[in-house]
Amino acid sequence: EKTPVMRVVNQVFNDFKMIHPDFTFTLDSDVYSNPIVQIYRNHLEQVLIILLDNAVKYSTKRKEIHISAAEDARTVQIAIQDFGEGISEEDVKKVFNRFYRVDKARSRDKGGNGLGLSIAQRLIEGYHGKISLESSVGYGSIFRITLPIVKEKSDSKLKEKSSD
Ligand code: ATP
Repeated sequence: EKTPVMRVVNQVFNDFKMIHPDFTFTLDSDVYSNPIVQIYRNHLEQVLIILLDNAVKYSTKRKEIHISAAEDARTVQIAIQDFGEGISEEDVKKVFNRFYRVDKARSRDKGGNGLGLSIAQRLIEGYHGKISLESSVGYGSIFRITLPIVKEKSDSKLKEKSSD
């Protein structure tokens, strides 16, 4: 399935603004084309929801979440940044592992199984994309997703098609 990435980003962004009125969500997009990515719309939605749910769940003090989008010739990049509790260097390497949760005692009351990020990673990599994390304890986290853009048919090809 071919999915217009920014439509999904905008939709999930608007959903989260509605669901979490106590948070400030910002969306900053440098995407001016309409990049299409080979991914099931539901899968992209699921990944964004996992990342945004986490950002909300692990931001207890500064309730601010920043989404940014950019593109180059081949890829579209989405970043989700929070200013919450952050993740230590040691744990950054492990949070994508199945069932891994930082500080089990502290995060137990927040619910969850430690599966969200491993699912997000599997989905993104399954579509030949990348997901990465940059974080610092006490300062917050940035999750970055990169997905390859599907090249649309060139003009000459479209002409070929319409003439046959
Ligand atoms: P669920 O299975 O419901 O997603 P979860 O949130 O525990 O539960 P993951 O989404 O896989 O599972 O996250 C793994 C761990 O990484 C979390 O338990 C949490 O400790 C840490 N983590 C994830 N996102 C963030 C974030 N934005 N800020 C701080 N810690 C985070």
